[in-house]
Amino acid sequence: MLVIFDCDGVLVDSEPIANTCFARALQREGLNWSVEETMRRLMGRSMKSCVEIVEGELGHALPFGFIDRLQADTLQAFHDAPLRAVPGVIAAIDVIEAAGAVTCVASSGGFDKMRVTLGITGLWQRFEGRIFSSAEVPRGKPFPDLFLHAALRMNVQPFACTVVEDSLPGIQAAHAAGMRAVAYVGAAHTDAAALQAAGGYPFNDMSKLPALVGS
Ligand SMILES: [Mg+2]
Repeated sequence: MLVIFDCDGVLVDSEPIANTCFARALQREGLNWSVEETMRRLMGRSMKSCVEIVEGELGHALPFGFIDRLQADTLQAFHDAPLRAVPGVIAAIDVIEAAGAVTCVASSGGFDKMRVTLGITGLWQRFEGRIFSSAEVPRGKPFPDLFLHAALRMNVQPFACTVVEDSLPGIQAAHAAGMRAVAYVGAAHTDAAALQAAGGYPFNDMSKLPALVGS
């Protein structure tokens, strides 16, 4: 059994910080999305997909250097906040691993970002060698590529994988990969009904996760 953890919003409580930075950067380009609207439109997607959506909305390309500036601002904000692990997730991982399940991380974010977010929260070393990014596959979530890549690298069949996600593209990607999905809906910004409708079994407390994944 392999438990595949999404990173942002499942392992680390990064979405409010990251989307505040993203909304501020978009406002400078003339796109007045609130933090909530930015989350609704972009959360769980790769940066490449986010840029496509934003440029479609603006009707023109973002300026040169936009992504680099946004990423630098966001990483700084993670240090300043500081970023924390999602409540209860580390204890849940302890129980799941003690029961014999294998764990890994599969994120729409890049390795540079995860080195910071997982590093600040003490999780990088714990998962090192079992961390996968959409940068490694042709298509990001909601396509199944990243989860299938993680399963292949971990040498586990998709039907023996459970994905822990908090975003709609992530639940859709798990479903497309033929994997079981559970949806963490503990954060205030989560659209629990949409995640459940897409096939993610909802739960709002990380202490319940070990039982849900069969540990
Ligand atoms: Mg997420």
